[in-house]
Amino acid sequence: MTCYQEISGPACGSNLIMKSGRSAAGTQRYRCHNPECKTKTFYRYKACEPGIREQVVDMSINGSGIRDTARVLKINKNTVISTLKKSRAALSR
Ligand SMILES: [Zn+2]
Repeated sequence: MTCYQEISGPACGSNLIMKSGRSAAGTQRYRCHNPECKTKTFYRYKACEPGIREQVVDMSINGSGIRDTARVLKINKNTVISTLKKSRAALSR
């Protein structure tokens, strides 16, 4: 799954971000190269992980609202909305 979300440091908002290996669970890890930054490594925003999109779609099919979906998956409400929009566009093709 490709992630189109712009990666920036969660602590400083810097875009001096380099990939830095993966966690044991396979989550992409990033390193912030801003010298002022206190958060040197962080993980990619959860919505970008493979499987989240499928879970968002599954929950919507099962009748979950956008708020519920966002809360259960611990992602942003706007991410749920854009994920559903993209999925519907793909389905109606
Ligand atoms: Zn940073």
